[in-house]
Amino acid sequence: MPLGFRFDNSYARLPERFFEPCLPTPVAAPRLVRVNAALADTLGLDAAALAGPEGVAVLAGNRVPEGAAPIALAYAGHQFGQFVPRLGDGRAVLLGEVVGRDGLRRDIQLKGSGPTPFSRRGDGRAALGPVLREYLVSEAMAALGLPTTRALAAVTTGEVVQREEARPGGVLTRVAASHLRVGTFQFFAAQGDVEGVRTLADYAIARHYPELAGAEHPYRALLEAVVARQADLVARWLLIGFVHGVMNTDNTAISGETIDFGPCAFMEAYDPGTVFSSIDYAGRYSYGNQPRVAQWNLARLAETLLPLLAAEEEPAVAMAQEVLAGFGPRFEAAYGGGLARKIGLGTAREGDGPLVQDLLRRMAENGADFTLLFRSLGDAAMEPEAAGARALFADPAAFDGWAEGWRRRLAEEPGGAEASRAAMLRVNPAVIPRNHLVEAAIDAAVERQDFTSFEALLDALSRPFDHRPGLERFTLPAKPEERVLQTFCGT
Ligand code: AMP
Ligand code: MG
Repeated sequence: MPLGFRFDNSYARLPERFFEPCLPTPVAAPRLVRVNAALADTLGLDAAALAGPEGVAVLAGNRVPEGAAPIALAYAGHQFGQFVPRLGDGRAVLLGEVVGRDGLRRDIQLKGSGPTPFSRRGDGRAALGPVLREYLVSEAMAALGLPTTRALAAVTTGEVVQREEARPGGVLTRVAASHLRVGTFQFFAAQGDVEGVRTLADYAIARHYPELAGAEHPYRALLEAVVARQADLVARWLLIGFVHGVMNTDNTAISGETIDFGPCAFMEAYDPGTVFSSIDYAGRYSYGNQPRVAQWNLARLAETLLPLLAAEEEPAVAMAQEVLAGFGPRFEAAYGGGLARKIGLGTAREGDGPLVQDLLRRMAENGADFTLLFRSLGDAAMEPEAAGARALFADPAAFDGWAEGWRRRLAEEPGGAEASRAAMLRVNPAVIPRNHLVEAAIDAAVERQDFTSFEALLDALSRPFDHRPGLERFTLPAKPEERVLQTFCGT
């Protein structure tokens, strides 16, 4: 049965130093966990065939589909601020690119597919747990409407990987607008390879920002475009309570998609200092630091582009600084506007910013669950008792003190309370991948080969804005004994 891949591998046509040809390493006994049928369809693939023996062989790396040109991509990156000149795909291969039914070009990558020339001391493999985590969280992000890489499939390998202990292995088939990273630019810039940077910039423009090709200054325009997409992306992370966890420059995509779901997690009680990653000792990548880090990462991108911005260093630096200064206003507009919509304000008025900041301060002081509180505001707009919202505050009077001014402001919105309620329910999700649910689904799969929790959670996450009777447990915060305080890269 043909799987339907019609590859057109533009990255593999770039100069040789951009990648290393590299085949996936076959695994002992591949078994399918899941194929994402809707995504397969968008990509023009046959989901049923992918779930069959030939398809699973491809998804496990045991068979290379016709037309693929498997490569491991070269990149560098700042990891927790430390520059590493050669990282690259150490546990992934890009099979190739396909143009979907929607006309969009996407990478098809196998993650956990065995050693590559970039593996250093790693085994090139992925444990099943992190594979399932990336599957759940990336698909949740997509359903929430955020730019993100996707999960096309997950398989188990029938082999174990040795981490702190032996774990079952898995392979994720990841789909991305591309795998160009800030670190890809750094790879060439660090070697003084200006032609490499230029080739990459031209490729990035052609692939992600074709409208800029005719700009007066295409490289400046590229930097502006990436700054804008990253500012919007991080604003959207904050608006749903997402903590990426490892915002290294090699995990910052030029496309503006969320990429590399490692120790990522969702905040429960609102606290800007929230950190989950076990290795983020200093809180560099905490929830509230994410805008600052994104800007720092973009400054690293700008540095690589300096030779393309102007012939002399001084005007090049001035231009880069000017573009980078655009991050703040762009982020503030996206974040501020988004917060206003979360409290039902579609029009902008003086005083809206302080109103929402006052709410956030009270939430932080009272341990209010971020997701549930905003979700409860829809009902609170209709019911003066606002029992749902009040109950989320350690001191319910803290909500009352805020709600009085909010109700007055809400009354100025066109359409009345019913329209405000509907608007809030459209932007404030009920279901997010809560950490205890993600952990429980992974545990059942890894410890007992039981994927029912994984499937049920994935289904709940696929419609995050719907209230579906019977699925309340997916909306609730962890009980104290269920709380997950730390997450791990698990690579
Ligand atoms: P990440 O944690 O996904 O951002 O990965 C950082 C770097 O470490 C990348 O260059 C990866 O390819 C590499 N890496 C992570 N895990 C492994 C592994 N198990 N084997 C080889 N390389 C790895
Ligand atoms: Mg990475």
